[in-house]
Amino acid sequence: MITVDQCPFCSHADVEINEVSPYEYAVDCPECRAIGPICSDIMQAIAAWNKATRLELLDFEIPATT
Ligand SMILES: [Zn+2]
Repeated sequence: MITVDQCPFCSHADVEINEVSPYEYAVDCPECRAIGPICSDIMQAIAAWNKATRLELLDFEIPATT
């Protein structure tokens, strides 16, 4: 069973998996609104999130706060 890493930005453990559009999934943090790479597969989206949290977070998009 794959687990989803906590949010690398705010350490929120209860991140969510979103279907951003049909067949496009991304892990996102409901706390700080960080969103991981969008993938066509839930497991890929989780893997990409986990990988990104361990690397340089290059694929993350942080929504601008206005
Ligand atoms: Zn967060």
